[in-house]
Amino acid sequence: MAKTKPGKKDLDSYSIKGTNKVVRVGDCVLMRPSDSDKPPYVAKVDRIEADHRNNVKVRVQWYYRPEESVGGRRQFHGAKELFLSDHYDFQSAHTIERKCIVHSFKNYTKLENVGPEDYFCRFDYKAATGGFTPDRVAVYCKCEMPYNPDDLMVQCEGCKDWFHPICMGMTIEEAKKLDPFLCSDCSSEDDAKRPLNSFHVEPKVELKRRKR
Ligand SMILES: [Zn+2]
Ligand SMILES: [Zn+2]
Repeated sequence: MAKTKPGKKDLDSYSIKGTNKVVRVGDCVLMRPSDSDKPPYVAKVDRIEADHRNNVKVRVQWYYRPEESVGGRRQFHGAKELFLSDHYDFQSAHTIERKCIVHSFKNYTKLENVGPEDYFCRFDYKAATGGFTPDRVAVYCKCEMPYNPDDLMVQCEGCKDWFHPICMGMTIEEAKKLDPFLCSDCSSEDDAKRPLNSFHVEPKVELKRRKR
């Protein structure tokens, strides 16, 4: 059991005001920002405690959005990507708007539908230094970028690497019609006369399946 300060009592759960939703330690929540123009803060509830007047506070571990990190948003960051920070705060439980789900990267990529409450996290983030764990991730395609789950990729039957259609000089529709899909390297080994040999690398342009 966590130590309790005098006059404070640890709680197992908290009911979000005006709802029947119960928040427990370990749950992820959206919290109302002080500036209502901003998107809600995302946090993991680490502790719930009530003082002697029954004011409930939660100790939260913040998730950072890519734009809130030192390096900013990068091309491979997904729209629903969050970083689990080492930054903790006490907040009034009243600022909890609703619960949300922060999936592992793998589970997120398997979701059939991404709802407004679905997020994912693949990096831990040190708020003081801007450092990430892991500090290296696999890269794919000719553009050698980490996987952004918002961008459609097709797998080459030959080398098994994954590619952005646009990096291979194709539209998504064209890439889907190629069954099996072969990247330019594999198709040129296969049949040097195929017109698909040429591709242009356009790492600046990404195909978005979903918009915020
Ligand atoms: Zn690419
Ligand atoms: Zn290939």
